[in-house]
Parts: sequence; structure tokens; C-alpha cells
Amino acid sequence: MESILVLTHADDSGVALSKGSLEAVTAGKELAAKLGAQLAIGVVAKDASAAAGVLASAGAKLLGVSGEAFAQARYATDAAACEAIAKAAAATIVLAPGSSRFTRVMAGVASRVGGTIDTHVTALGGADKVEASRWYYRQRIEAVLTRAGRPWFLLLDAGTHAAFAGAAGAATVEAISVDAASRTTVTGFKTPELDAQTIRPDAKMLFVAGAGWTKKQPDGAVHVADAGKLILGFLKNTSASLGSSKSLVDQGSEGNSVLPFLTHMNQIGQTGATPRHPKGLATCCHGEEPHVVGWRFIGDRRAVSLDPNCGWTRGKADVVYIADAFAVMTKVNELLAARS
Ligand SMILES: Cc1cc2nc3c(=O)[nH]c(=O)nc-3n(C[C@H](O)[C@H](O)[C@H](O)COP(=O)(O)OP(=O)(O)OC[C@H]3O[C@@H](n4cnc5c(N)ncnc54)[C@H](O)[C@@H]3O)c2cc1C
Repeated sequence: MESILVLTHADDSGVALSKGSLEAVTAGKELAAKLGAQLAIGVVAKDASAAAGVLASAGAKLLGVSGEAFAQARYATDAAACEAIAKAAAATIVLAPGSSRFTRVMAGVASRVGGTIDTHVTALGGADKVEASRWYYRQRIEAVLTRAGRPWFLLLDAGTHAAFAGAAGAATVEAISVDAASRTTVTGFKTPELDAQTIRPDAKMLFVAGAGWTKKQPDGAVHVADAGKLILGFLKNTSASLGSSKSLVDQGSEGNSVLPFLTHMNQIGQTGATPRHPKGLATCCHGEEPHVVGWRFIGDRRAVSLDPNCGWTRGKADVVYIADAFAVMTKVNELLAARS
């Protein structure tokens, strides 16, 4: 009989659990129900009991590691906390969010407890044994894995499960004590300016800019500066994540005028990223297969293109507006500004 542990950590506020953690809780509850297994949830936070309030109705045994040392991500303390919780829970299956904080430590934790680990898990199934799905080869091949080794750690990709949203209350958390001694001192964070940080995996919407934004327009001129203002204006108003086609980000290396806030990190597609967002809007992009393959996990797909024969109109989008994206986005930004 399997027993399941979900490892969670606080978000940047330090008070609440991260969204990825709450998604892992949902995955744990679903798997426990499917297997008829026991469920425990471990919390790593400055104040685990406070952070665990949202788990009061989760129907799980709660274990917590608390203290100032666990307020921030640090390999030594996070690994020690997760190891202690995993040993206390003695679970056979350990689920955790594939956050940067836990991805960094979890292979080490699995090794310390003699376990095994798989990452980038997107789904969990199986009636009599646990099956974990993950994608290979740029999301072209989906594999279903089983393993005999226990404990089996599974890091879950963000956005693959709904975040657990139980009624908050006073949670009873068993405190696990951990030696927080560490030679590493966290002195602070260096993060890009908010405007420069255009890749937002948790955003509700993906906004894709294609090469059309930098091409000659019907008036015979290019309008790159206007394009930049329209795109950044939309991102500011919506907090959407910014994606790009390969053609647009390649232009920088070819010496053409480019949008300075776009890098290859923004590229969506076969040789780019495959993000997960409920909605996507492509603008000035042709919708060719090597690009659209990166939209595999985008829910509602819309595109604005001048070309009625573009790839989007050929079954790749739910709605296509055959229109000038400069005009459309100017109007959209006006409407968004009036709303705020
Ligand atoms: C092996 C391989 C891997 C690849 N991997 C990727 C990948 O990972 N990601 C990727 O994106 N591509 C990839 N590509 C390239 C891909 O095939 C396309 O070349 C690329 O996606 C085209 O980018 P685009 O649609 O932005 O540009 P274009 O094809 O130049 O299309 C621009 C579009 O903008 C429209 N437009 C222009 N002005 C306006 C306006 N004012 N309003 C509205 N629409 C306008 C035009 O009508 C046109 O449809 C790959 C190709 C290969 C061979």
C-alpha cells in the first residue's frame, strides 16, 4: 500500500503557500483518493502553522518545519527540512512542485533517503500502481513511467493541476525539528526590473509578438518604436507573459531593427518554449507549425494577422482577426487603460 507525502513551501510573501505547492496538494489528494492511500503534507516556511491554514480542510496529516532559516530558499536548509519531513512521514510517494526552490534540492533529498526521482511530471494516473507522465523530445513524445524504487519523488510541472482552495482554518501541524546550521547566508535578491521581466509562467495569458511587427507596413515604413510601445503597453495593462516567434528574436542576430525587450528566452515553438496559459493571443505572426507546436498547452487561442491564409486560419486558432495589429492593439490598449 502506497502512502503519499506532498512537500510544499511558502511563496515570496513568506506567509502563504506558493501556487505550485497548492497545485501539488491537489495532485496529492487526487492520487490518494485513487489509490485509497494515506496523505500527509509537509510545509517548509518561516511559520509553517500559519502557512498551513489553507490546508486545514485538506484531510491530510500536516508536518511542518518552521524558523527564520526556512523563510528563504537555500540549499542546505531546504534540503535538510525536506529530508526531515520525508523521514518523519515515511511515505512511498513524494510529490513536490517543480519550483526553482524545490527543483534545486529534491534530487539531493531523494538521494539522502535512498529514493529515486523524476522531474517535469505533468500527470499522475494508475489504478493499482502509480503512473507518472512526462514529455520528451520537445513535447513530441509523452511517456508514462512506473518505478519499483521507493520512496519515489515526483516534481510536478506548474499549471498541470488546479490549485487547492480549501476553506482556511486553524491547522494542526506536527512540528519537525531540523538543525538549521548553514554556512550560507542569504543577503538579498537580485531581480530584473518588473518591466524587463516579460516571461511570466503564472500569467493567465500569453501574448505572442511575431516578425510582422518589425516589417514594412502598408504605408511603406517600419514602425518598430510604435510596436514596442503597443506591446509593452498591453503587457503593463494585462500582466500577460510575452512570447515571440523565432523569426522576430532571430532578427537581433541578423542586425535588423528589433524590439529590445525580446530575447531567445521568449521564443515559443519547436526550438523554443512550450508554456502553459489558459489563453493566448498571437499578433503579427504567421502561425507556422514549428511555432504553433509550442502552443500545445495554451487553452483559448486567438490571433491577429493581416493574412487570411496564415497558419492560424487553417485550424490552429479558435478565433482569428484578419486585421492590422497596430490598429487592433491601439484600440485594445485604449480600452484597457479606460478600464483601469
Ligand atoms: C527546424 C525549425 C525549427 C523552428 N523552430 C521555431 C520555433 O521554435 N519557434 C518559431 O516561432 N519558429 C520556429 N521556426 C520558424 C517558423 O517556421 C517560422 O519561420 C516563424 O515562426 C515565422 O515567424 P513569424 O510568423 O513571426 O514571421 P513571418 O512568417 O514573417 O510572419 C509575419 C506575419 O505577420 C503578419 N503581419 C505583418 N504586419 C502585420 C500587421 N500590421 N498586423 C497583423 N499582421 C501583420 C504577416 O501577414 C505575416 O503573416 C522553426 C523552423 C525550423 C525549420
